[in-house]
Amino acid sequence: MFSIRMRASVNRRHVSGAERIIPKKDIPLVVEELSKRAATHENGIPDIIHITIEKITDVIQCIPALPLTSITIKSHVQAKGLAVDALIDSGIPDTAAHHALELLQKGPAPNGRNMRGAIIMNCENKKRLEPDSFRGVRVTRMDMKPEAVEALRKELSTLKIDKRTEIIREAITLASKVANFKTIAELCISDNPSNHVGYVASKKLGFLRIPHLKKTGASAGGRVFFVRTGINLHEYINYLEHAPVIVDRISDVQAVSAINTQPPGCSMIDSLLQVVSYI
Ligand code: AMP
Repeated sequence: MFSIRMRASVNRRHVSGAERIIPKKDIPLVVEELSKRAATHENGIPDIIHITIEKITDVIQCIPALPLTSITIKSHVQAKGLAVDALIDSGIPDTAAHHALELLQKGPAPNGRNMRGAIIMNCENKKRLEPDSFRGVRVTRMDMKPEAVEALRKELSTLKIDKRTEIIREAITLASKVANFKTIAELCISDNPSNHVGYVASKKLGFLRIPHLKKTGASAGGRVFFVRTGINLHEYINYLEHAPVIVDRISDVQAVSAINTQPPGCSMIDSLLQVVSYI
């Protein structure tokens, strides 16, 4: 099998990226697909497109996707409250959850821009652990098996969001790989100005897709991986960057309305949790 990765930039600014793990025979097709995608991205026409093709020599780990819950929610304020509550319910202290959300909303790099990779945050003291806070840590060498993508597309079509299959497939693949090793929870807000959707992912809650987590048109976004004190950072980053992982099957896929599920006296997250807890 081969890892194939694309990244495109304009004036050294990252505009798009994607990756696959594929058999050798599919390389020409996937190179074409990824270069077309780089050349037509709404973030700008790239002046450099890098495509890396690398033979995988390590054993590939196959894992299931996290269960997916797509939440119907109307307001940005409600969405932020739900994300924080979901993080708290996953075991993240409330100050760390708020701090992470604020960082992603203002632009998480030290100069207030977006990062190419993710923040690693010690959830017990809010300390950032990624070695380079401008770049962050990039999760790579992951993919979802074509049969699992088709099963996902089918499930998403019953929820009428199958137009978003590609974006959801990539997000859930990354989140499933990240949740599989020593990550307590993840918070993600897209950096794409036309995409207001974000998510919270954890082993406990699965993948909670949360619309309106970002104000439409805003371009700040990013990812935070929450870990605990005492983690072996070298081993953790090595897993994220290098361990080849294929998501070979999907789990539950469901939609839940945050608007209708809230009986009086019950918080939004409590009522959602009645349908969403996995451990
Ligand atoms: P996206 O979901 O592509 O809109 O990305 C949102 C943010 O997540 C980006 O601004 C990066 O900070 C971060 N990010 C994107 N891809 C990765 C990756 N492969 N590994 C870690 N962080 C990433």
